[in-house]
Amino acid sequence: MPWPNCDICEKPAFMVAASPMGPISLAYCEECLDAKRENWNVLVGGLIGYEKGTEADWVKPIIEATLKFYNKTEDELWAEVKTTTEEYYSTMKGEIEG
Ligand SMILES: [Zn+2]
Repeated sequence: MPWPNCDICEKPAFMVAASPMGPISLAYCEECLDAKRENWNVLVGGLIGYEKGTEADWVKPIIEATLKFYNKTEDELWAEVKTTTEEYYSTMKGEIEG
């Protein structure tokens, strides 16, 4: 298997590790790992069900580093989390009601 590229910046990865954001492993380069960056979609997925200000303290440096890397604002992140949360719950509801 070829060595993967970083799931965040796509440079050659330094290691594959469990993401702190959920049950998923990601490839990280040393720079992203040191900076505490996360893959954007993984960060959004990990924040499902949360609203701005309700996230755990340990997530805050991850959010900050990730926003900086993707050049996005906190409002953009939370808007996407809101949309993803709504989609997630409507999918769940559909599955329960059949
Ligand atoms: Zn990287």
